[in-house]
Amino acid sequence: MRMRNKPWAEDFLLQHEDIVSIDLARKDHIVDWFEQVQPIHIEVGSGMGRFITEMAKAHPEINYIGIERDKNVMIRIVEKAVEQNIRNLRLLTVDAEKLTEIFNAGEIDRIYLNFSDPWPKVRHAKRRLTHENFLKVYETILNKDGEIHFKTDNQALFEYSIESMSHYGMKLKNINLNLHDNEPVDNIRTEYEDKFSNKGFRINRLEARF
Ligand code: SAH
Repeated sequence: MRMRNKPWAEDFLLQHEDIVSIDLARKDHIVDWFEQVQPIHIEVGSGMGRFITEMAKAHPEINYIGIERDKNVMIRIVEKAVEQNIRNLRLLTVDAEKLTEIFNAGEIDRIYLNFSDPWPKVRHAKRRLTHENFLKVYETILNKDGEIHFKTDNQALFEYSIESMSHYGMKLKNINLNLHDNEPVDNIRTEYEDKFSNKGFRINRLEARF
């Protein structure tokens, strides 16, 4: 997601250091950052943050962390968290490739990937969040029963991801090629999900574990 550069973005984020970290300084304390010790679910590429904020409200028994590398986009999530006083949500503006520097091995219970950038050119395949280099990162930080839940409208990215995960030896389940046909009542639509569904694209979903 691209947003116009806001020169005040960093200042704004620094004013909300209790919920958002713009560097890796909290590395050793990530679990202590929450008020309650409970399972941690993260979303990689949170965009405007509707999914992670709604999930946090619906599941107070889980701690959520939204990862979004674009500071100009992160502002939107911080605004939602502050306005709605969401206590079990923290935010990090880092690149997903740095996740093993932030989390201890096995510390994360679930990873959500929602409408990740498709990077359609073959020479950009390494940037796809389901490339094996990223799967390696997820494998390290997820606990042994942890799952990845992935949604996308993009058919090519979905096909690529099934191949990439299966080639890596992951087990896939609940593969759904049209999530909105008989939509689960607890499905939280992300901003991109609404946008692409309204344009007539089918939404794909799968769950995977190592
Ligand atoms: N999940 C949101 C946004 C999807 S757009 C939704 O469904 O509406 C994908 C988002 O992932 C963008 O905001 C982009 O900045 C972020 N992103 C892409 N690659 C990333 C990476 N390597 N690390 C962290 N964030 C990333």
